Amino acid sequence: DLKPLRIPFANSYARLPENFYARVAPTPVTTPRLVKLNLQLADLLGLDAEALASPEGVAVLAGSRVAEGSEPLAMAYAGHQFGYFVRQLGDGRTNLLGEVVGRDGIRYDIQLKGSGRTPFSRNGDGRAAIGPVLREYIVSEAMATLGVPTTRSLAAVTTGQAVFRETVLPGAVLTRVAASHLRVGTFQYFFAQGDVAALRRLADYAIERHYSEAATATRRYRAFLDGVVTRQAKLVAQWMLLGFIHGVMNTDNTSISGETIDYGPCAFMEAYHPRTVFSSIDHQGRYSYSNQPNAMHWNLARLAETILPLLVEEEGGDEAGLASAYESLEQFGKHYEAALNTGMRRKLGLTTEQESDTSLIEDLLNRMMEQRADYTLTFRRLCDAAAGAEGNAGVRSMFTSPAAFDEWEPRWRQRLAQENLSPEERAALMRRTNPIYIPRNHLVEAALEAATEKQDFQPFEDLLQVLAQPYDERPGLEPYATPARPEEYVSKTFC
Ligand code: AMP
Ligand code: MG
Ligand code: MG
Repeated sequence: DLKPLRIPFANSYARLPENFYARVAPTPVTTPRLVKLNLQLADLLGLDAEALASPEGVAVLAGSRVAEGSEPLAMAYAGHQFGYFVRQLGDGRTNLLGEVVGRDGIRYDIQLKGSGRTPFSRNGDGRAAIGPVLREYIVSEAMATLGVPTTRSLAAVTTGQAVFRETVLPGAVLTRVAASHLRVGTFQYFFAQGDVAALRRLADYAIERHYSEAATATRRYRAFLDGVVTRQAKLVAQWMLLGFIHGVMNTDNTSISGETIDYGPCAFMEAYHPRTVFSSIDHQGRYSYSNQPNAMHWNLARLAETILPLLVEEEGGDEAGLASAYESLEQFGKHYEAALNTGMRRKLGLTTEQESDTSLIEDLLNRMMEQRADYTLTFRRLCDAAAGAEGNAGVRSMFTSPAAFDEWEPRWRQRLAQENLSPEERAALMRRTNPIYIPRNHLVEAALEAATEKQDFQPFEDLLQVLAQPYDERPGLEPYATPARPEEYVSKTFC
């Protein structure tokens, strides 16, 4: 018999009113096996990696044991799924184990995903297959090293039990770490019930955890909304700058903390096209690459309407409350555009601003679209071109017809000449913002397939290792930097 692992959990969410969650423990599994433990993240969280990798630790990570100090629960939430409101979704296959305060002073949720049925499961089995678990692990960790706010992955374990999807698949559990799992959908849950007291409680909890600056503001709920709007605008700009397509930007997958959350049928764009969609369930392109800022703005409007009663009270009137909500939402575009333009200038190697920069960027993107240029590699090879005119062979070769680049290049060089960076300095700066390695879809799929079909986790490990330093080009890793050949290309992702 195993001695239960002790983890210094805090359980602030479990202290909230009973209608915020359901107390439920993970469902034990037959034969837990540790596939991956994130040592660096364990260290950041102040957790003992050796203990986590021990049989007792693995039992906790699989949901077979509840660690001492944990008060497991499933969070209640609602959400708009592809525009349709569902009053009750909730954690149907996840358990919040508790919170730990990391070495950085931030309080993190530790959650198991795929850990069994809960009162919110509806018809679901409460489980996850190894493929999606590893995709979330790979992509969330890649986003972290790319510098994007995101949930993290602490561990992946297989359960020894089959899950039934279109086929029979090995089951797995992911340990997810988040600044919190509060979502726009959490607010919608209480809004749908007309429970203003719960909304106030939830908003105050969110403020305490994520927006302490709002706590002392004259209009605290307005400051809270402003905070979420600003963080989400910057987050989506970062996605756009990296070519990341989330795939399921439902309001229940929009976090209050401003982190990327819920890695389902997500993928990175290869050939640049604004309307790119990977998700097999996104038939209308609602969450296509270029629709992401609109989708986020819409989701934030849903958040604003849930806290409208609080804004009205704060402003002392219906009209003033509504005006406050609109003013806050209007800031989204400004923050988004600013973050996108700053980021795009940086991608081009510009450190100053000129009005004509926007058209310079648009011109390049249009040419990339027409020429099916790989988004990531074009910008990376542009860094080599910035180092010297003779270095432009790589970027030229990204365009089906290199003349399309040749027409744009002099415009860019003229603009660069107006700044006083040396070519080497500029190239170095650009290489810190234009990654060479991203989780290319065909490589991710190959890693998931090897794990699913052959229990071979080597491709997964190799990919993780490459992605741990996405900005440092290393010899011998060309296959990781190269777009899929037509026969390798994976155009659809499933969750
Ligand atoms: P998602 O599309 O991942 O945002 O999930 C939407 C909702 O479906 C959430 O309430 C999930 O908890 C629930 N869900 C997804 N997969 C399962 C499953 N296998 N079993 C039970 N609930 C699930
Ligand atoms: Mg979700
Ligand atoms: Mg999901």
